[in-house]
Amino acid sequence: MKTIKIGAHNVTLKLPYSFPKQDAIAMVDLDKKVIVMEGGYPVAVTLSSLLHEILHMIDYQGALGLWGRDVDEAGTEEKIDALAEALTQVLIDNKMINPNFMAMLKRESAKKSK
Ligand SMILES: [Zn+2]
Repeated sequence: MKTIKIGAHNVTLKLPYSFPKQDAIAMVDLDKKVIVMEGGYPVAVTLSSLLHEILHMIDYQGALGLWGRDVDEAGTEEKIDALAEALTQVLIDNKMINPNFMAMLKRESAKKSK
């Protein structure tokens, strides 16, 4: 369990988290400020999924409406995925992530959720 700051908020990161039903790698609770992530995935998948949830939070907090007012609006997930993937590539390939944070992500994402 780790806390990350997104905007003015402390967001709890639960990794590895075991979903009752395995139908997602990660989810964010925008009101409770919690991101839960399934373990057992390669670090790039974990980072991309984390950035995906962070983008949801940024969009929600800023009421940016980048992807429409409704997070479930058609195309929302695909656009957020595309941005998360692009950011993952730039951050990893250019070693722009704090090594301690990257090491924590590698270690925790390697753990299988129970
Ligand atoms: Zn999403």
